[in-house]
Amino acid sequence: MQEAPTRAAERVSLIPVLSDNYVFVLHGDGPGPAVVVDPAVAEPVQHWLEQRGLELSAILHTHHHHDHIGGAAALLERWPQAAVIASAADRARIPLQTQGVAEGDRLELLGRPVEVLEVPGHTAHHVAFYLPPQGAAGAELFCGDTLFAGGCGRLFEGTPEQMHTSLQRLAALPASTRVWCAHEYTEGNLRWAAAEAPGDGPIAERLAAVRAQRAAGQPTIPSSIGLERATNLFMRAADGAELRRRRGSKDLWRG
Ligand code: ZN
Ligand code: FE
Repeated sequence: MQEAPTRAAERVSLIPVLSDNYVFVLHGDGPGPAVVVDPAVAEPVQHWLEQRGLELSAILHTHHHHDHIGGAAALLERWPQAAVIASAADRARIPLQTQGVAEGDRLELLGRPVEVLEVPGHTAHHVAFYLPPQGAAGAELFCGDTLFAGGCGRLFEGTPEQMHTSLQRLAALPASTRVWCAHEYTEGNLRWAAAEAPGDGPIAERLAAVRAQRAAGQPTIPSSIGLERATNLFMRAADGAELRRRRGSKDLWRG
Protein backbone atom coordinates (compact mmCIF):
# COMPACT_ATOMS: atom_id res chain seq x y z
CA MET A 1 0.00 0.00 0.00
CA GLN A 2 1.31 3.42 -0.96
CA GLU A 3 1.46 6.23 1.52
CA ALA A 4 -0.54 9.27 0.63
CA PRO A 5 1.67 12.11 -0.57
CA THR A 6 2.18 14.89 1.96
CA ARG A 7 -0.03 17.78 0.95
CA ALA A 8 1.45 21.22 1.20
CA ALA A 9 -0.46 23.77 3.26
CA GLU A 10 -2.65 25.69 0.88
CA ARG A 11 -4.65 27.92 3.13
CA VAL A 12 -4.06 31.10 5.07
CA SER A 13 -6.73 32.14 7.54
CA LEU A 14 -6.97 35.33 9.55
CA ILE A 15 -8.10 35.71 13.16
CA PRO A 16 -8.96 39.28 14.26
CA VAL A 17 -7.78 39.98 17.83
CA LEU A 18 -7.46 43.02 20.11
CA SER A 19 -8.70 46.24 18.51
CA ASP A 20 -7.07 45.95 15.10
CA ASN A 21 -4.54 43.08 15.04
CA TYR A 22 -4.66 40.04 12.80
CA VAL A 23 -3.12 36.67 13.63
CA PHE A 24 -2.54 34.47 10.57
CA VAL A 25 -2.73 30.69 10.36
CA LEU A 26 -1.11 28.61 7.62
CA HIS A 27 -2.79 25.23 7.34
CA GLY A 28 -4.04 22.53 5.00
CA ASP A 29 -7.49 21.15 4.35
CA GLY A 30 -8.91 19.49 7.41
CA PRO A 31 -7.25 18.56 10.71
CA GLY A 32 -3.44 18.52 10.86
CA PRO A 33 -0.49 20.76 11.62
CA ALA A 34 -0.69 24.54 11.53
CA VAL A 35 1.69 27.50 11.66
CA VAL A 36 0.66 30.71 13.41
CA VAL A 37 2.11 34.12 12.55
CA ASP A 38 2.39 36.92 15.14
CA PRO A 39 0.07 35.65 17.90
CA ALA A 40 -0.74 38.83 19.82
CA VAL A 41 -2.79 36.78 22.27
CA ALA A 42 -3.30 33.06 22.85
CA GLU A 43 -6.87 32.29 23.82
CA PRO A 44 -8.75 33.05 20.58
CA VAL A 45 -5.96 31.45 18.56
CA GLN A 46 -5.96 28.26 20.64
CA HIS A 47 -9.74 28.09 20.39
CA TRP A 48 -9.65 28.61 16.62
CA LEU A 49 -7.09 25.81 16.14
CA GLU A 50 -8.85 23.37 18.50
CA GLN A 51 -12.19 23.90 16.80
CA ARG A 52 -10.67 22.74 13.53
CA GLY A 53 -8.54 19.89 14.88
CA LEU A 54 -5.32 21.77 14.06
CA GLU A 55 -2.10 21.18 15.99
CA LEU A 56 0.33 24.06 16.35
CA SER A 57 3.69 23.06 14.85
CA ALA A 58 5.39 26.47 14.65
CA ILE A 59 5.02 30.12 15.57
CA LEU A 60 6.55 32.83 13.36
CA HIS A 61 7.31 36.28 14.78
CA THR A 62 7.98 39.23 12.46
CA HIS A 63 9.24 41.49 15.25
CA HIS A 64 9.40 41.89 19.01
CA HIS A 65 6.44 44.20 19.76
CA HIS A 66 4.06 42.81 22.32
CA ASP A 67 1.09 42.77 19.96
CA HIS A 68 3.05 40.27 17.82
CA ILE A 69 4.53 37.97 20.49
CA GLY A 70 2.19 38.29 23.48
CA GLY A 71 0.38 34.98 22.93
CA ALA A 72 3.43 32.75 22.41
CA ALA A 73 4.01 31.64 26.00
CA ALA A 74 0.47 30.38 26.53
CA LEU A 75 0.34 28.68 23.11
CA LEU A 76 3.56 26.85 24.02
CA GLU A 77 1.96 25.60 27.23
CA ARG A 78 -0.72 23.96 25.11
CA TRP A 79 1.67 22.84 22.29
CA PRO A 80 5.11 22.56 23.94
CA GLN A 81 6.68 20.93 20.88
CA ALA A 82 6.02 23.91 18.60
CA ALA A 83 9.03 25.69 17.10
CA VAL A 84 9.31 29.46 17.60
CA ILE A 85 10.98 31.13 14.63
CA ALA A 86 12.15 34.75 14.84
CA SER A 87 15.06 37.07 14.09
CA ALA A 88 18.25 35.65 15.63
CA ALA A 89 19.45 39.24 16.09
CA ASP A 90 16.42 39.90 18.31
CA ARG A 91 16.90 36.92 20.61
CA ALA A 92 17.05 39.19 23.65
CA ARG A 93 13.65 40.72 22.86
CA ILE A 94 12.03 37.52 21.57
CA PRO A 95 13.35 35.14 24.22
CA LEU A 96 11.08 32.13 23.55
CA GLN A 97 12.49 31.60 20.06
CA THR A 98 13.83 28.10 19.35
CA GLN A 99 15.11 28.85 15.84
CA GLY A 100 16.79 32.14 15.02
CA VAL A 101 16.68 33.27 11.40
CA ALA A 102 18.37 35.92 9.27
CA GLU A 103 18.31 37.36 5.75
CA GLY A 104 18.26 34.72 3.04
CA ASP A 105 17.42 31.78 5.29
CA ARG A 106 15.17 29.19 3.71
CA LEU A 107 12.83 27.07 5.78
CA GLU A 108 10.21 24.53 4.96
CA LEU A 109 6.94 24.73 6.84
CA LEU A 110 4.04 22.34 6.17
CA GLY A 111 5.57 21.40 2.85
CA ARG A 112 5.96 25.02 1.70
CA PRO A 113 9.35 26.69 1.19
CA VAL A 114 9.63 29.91 3.21
CA GLU A 115 12.18 32.66 2.59
CA VAL A 116 13.30 35.09 5.29
CA LEU A 117 13.68 38.75 4.31
CA GLU A 118 15.16 41.31 6.68
CA VAL A 119 13.03 44.45 6.34
CA PRO A 120 14.21 47.00 8.93
CA GLY A 121 12.49 50.35 9.45
CA HIS A 122 9.67 49.79 11.94
CA THR A 123 12.13 47.95 14.20
CA ALA A 124 15.82 47.26 13.72
CA HIS A 125 15.42 43.52 13.24
CA HIS A 126 12.02 43.21 11.63
CA VAL A 127 11.74 40.21 9.29
CA ALA A 128 9.15 39.17 6.71
CA PHE A 129 8.32 35.64 5.62
CA TYR A 130 7.74 35.00 1.91
CA LEU A 131 6.22 31.79 0.55
CA PRO A 132 6.79 31.44 -3.19
CA PRO A 133 3.93 30.01 -5.23
CA GLN A 134 3.77 26.23 -5.21
CA GLY A 135 1.33 24.17 -7.23
CA ALA A 136 -2.18 25.43 -6.67
CA ALA A 137 -1.05 27.64 -3.78
CA GLY A 138 -0.14 31.22 -4.66
CA ALA A 139 2.61 33.39 -3.18
CA GLU A 140 2.06 34.65 0.37
CA LEU A 141 3.83 37.40 2.31
CA PHE A 142 3.70 37.85 6.09
CA CYS A 143 5.11 41.33 6.57
CA GLY A 144 4.15 42.26 10.14
CA ASP A 145 4.26 46.04 10.63
CA THR A 146 6.58 46.87 7.72
CA LEU A 147 4.06 47.16 4.88
CA PHE A 148 0.42 47.94 5.57
CA ALA A 149 -2.39 48.09 3.06
CA GLY A 150 -2.01 51.66 1.83
CA GLY A 151 0.61 52.42 4.45
CA CYS A 152 3.76 51.41 6.28
CA GLY A 153 4.84 51.01 9.88
CA ARG A 154 6.02 53.90 12.00
CA LEU A 155 9.78 54.38 12.07
CA PHE A 156 10.50 53.45 15.68
CA GLU A 157 14.03 52.12 15.19
CA GLY A 158 14.93 52.66 11.54
CA THR A 159 15.60 55.42 9.06
CA PRO A 160 13.40 56.46 6.12
CA GLU A 161 16.14 55.12 3.85
CA GLN A 162 15.95 51.69 5.50
CA MET A 163 12.17 51.62 5.21
CA HIS A 164 12.40 52.71 1.58
CA THR A 165 14.80 49.87 0.83
CA SER A 166 12.60 47.38 2.70
CA LEU A 167 9.46 48.44 0.83
CA GLN A 168 11.22 48.30 -2.53
CA ARG A 169 12.32 44.74 -1.80
CA LEU A 170 8.72 43.79 -1.10
CA ALA A 171 7.56 45.68 -4.22
CA ALA A 172 9.82 43.40 -6.29
CA LEU A 173 7.85 40.30 -5.29
CA PRO A 174 5.30 38.97 -7.80
CA ALA A 175 2.27 41.25 -8.24
CA SER A 176 -0.12 38.45 -7.30
CA THR A 177 1.56 37.83 -3.91
CA ARG A 178 -1.05 38.05 -1.18
CA VAL A 179 0.04 40.54 1.49
CA TRP A 180 -0.92 39.66 5.06
CA CYS A 181 -0.35 42.82 7.12
CA ALA A 182 -0.73 42.54 10.87
CA HIS A 183 -3.15 45.45 11.43
CA GLU A 184 -6.45 46.69 10.01
CA TYR A 185 -5.27 50.23 9.26
CA THR A 186 -6.30 50.31 5.63
CA GLU A 187 -9.16 52.82 5.65
CA GLY A 188 -7.24 55.41 7.66
CA ASN A 189 -4.19 54.93 5.49
CA LEU A 190 -6.17 55.48 2.30
CA ARG A 191 -8.09 58.47 3.67
CA TRP A 192 -4.72 60.06 4.41
CA ALA A 193 -3.39 59.05 0.98
CA ALA A 194 -6.43 60.53 -0.79
CA ALA A 195 -5.83 63.83 1.05
CA GLU A 196 -2.11 63.70 0.28
CA ALA A 197 -2.61 62.89 -3.42
CA PRO A 198 -5.93 64.46 -4.46
CA GLY A 199 -7.01 63.41 -7.93
CA ASP A 200 -5.13 60.09 -7.79
CA GLY A 201 -7.59 57.72 -9.47
CA PRO A 202 -6.30 54.37 -8.18
CA ILE A 203 -6.18 55.65 -4.58
CA ALA A 204 -9.69 57.14 -4.75
CA GLU A 205 -11.04 53.96 -6.27
CA ARG A 206 -9.42 51.78 -3.63
CA LEU A 207 -10.63 54.04 -0.81
CA ALA A 208 -14.20 53.64 -2.03
CA ALA A 209 -13.84 49.86 -2.16
CA VAL A 210 -12.27 49.72 1.30
CA ARG A 211 -14.99 51.93 2.81
CA ALA A 212 -17.60 49.51 1.47
CA GLN A 213 -15.70 46.50 2.88
CA ARG A 214 -15.37 48.09 6.31
CA ALA A 215 -19.00 49.20 6.34
CA ALA A 216 -19.91 45.55 5.72
CA GLY A 217 -17.66 44.47 8.58
CA GLN A 218 -15.16 42.71 6.32
CA PRO A 219 -11.38 42.69 6.67
CA THR A 220 -9.39 44.48 3.97
CA ILE A 221 -6.55 41.97 4.35
CA PRO A 222 -5.04 40.32 2.36
CA SER A 223 -3.88 42.98 -0.03
CA SER A 224 -1.59 42.19 -2.95
CA ILE A 225 1.80 43.46 -4.02
CA GLY A 226 0.29 44.67 -7.29
CA LEU A 227 -2.37 46.70 -5.48
CA GLU A 228 0.21 48.19 -3.11
CA ARG A 229 2.48 49.17 -6.00
CA ALA A 230 -0.45 51.05 -7.53
CA THR A 231 -1.93 52.72 -4.44
CA ASN A 232 0.59 52.80 -1.57
CA LEU A 233 2.28 56.21 -1.34
CA PHE A 234 5.07 54.79 0.80
CA MET A 235 5.84 52.03 -1.67
CA ARG A 236 5.55 54.60 -4.47
CA ALA A 237 8.03 56.98 -2.77
CA ALA A 238 10.97 57.59 -5.11
CA ASP A 239 13.58 57.64 -2.34
CA GLY A 240 14.16 57.92 1.38
CA ALA A 241 13.59 61.67 1.39
CA GLU A 242 10.14 61.33 -0.17
CA LEU A 243 9.27 58.52 2.21
CA ARG A 244 10.40 60.70 5.14
CA ARG A 245 8.09 63.54 4.05
CA ARG A 246 5.13 61.23 3.65
CA ARG A 247 5.78 59.41 6.92
CA GLY A 248 5.97 62.78 8.69
CA SER A 249 2.70 63.89 7.08
CA LYS A 250 0.95 60.67 8.08
CA ASP A 251 2.28 60.82 11.66
CA LEU A 252 0.74 64.27 12.07
CA TRP A 253 -2.48 63.55 10.19
CA ARG A 254 -5.68 63.73 12.22
CA GLY A 255 -8.25 63.18 9.52
ZN1 ZN B 1 5.00 46.71 15.69
FE1 FE C 1 1.89 45.85 15.63
